[in-house]
Amino acid sequence: MENGWMSQSLLYHAFGVREGYEYRSTKYIEGRVEFHLTVKGEAIVCPHCQGREYWRRGKRQRRINTLPIGPKAVVLVVEVPKCECRTCHKCFEHSPPLPQPTTTTAAPWLDSSVS
Ligand SMILES: [Zn+2]
Repeated sequence: MENGWMSQSLLYHAFGVREGYEYRSTKYIEGRVEFHLTVKGEAIVCPHCQGREYWRRGKRQRRINTLPIGPKAVVLVVEVPKCECRTCHKCFEHSPPLPQPTTTTAAPWLDSSVS
């Protein structure tokens, strides 16, 4: 069952995903869950001249391991756009910070492996 709103809410509250990101999809792969995110276009600003006009020049993926859900590993897969500024013609990547989530309850299967 797919429930995008629930997943997005979960991402925001449990994993520290903030504004500037857009939830795209959830993929369930053997033993792990991947949340796919993209950066919102309107959040992209040239770091050199603060220009908001740019061309897209490709993209890459960042993979961030985050807190597991139950026995499943969780990976945030974030698309990082590569852009060229239309004003100053410098290339840049837009990759807003994704804070690591904090937790107060360590997963027991992790505790047993760290001794
Ligand atoms: Zn610029």
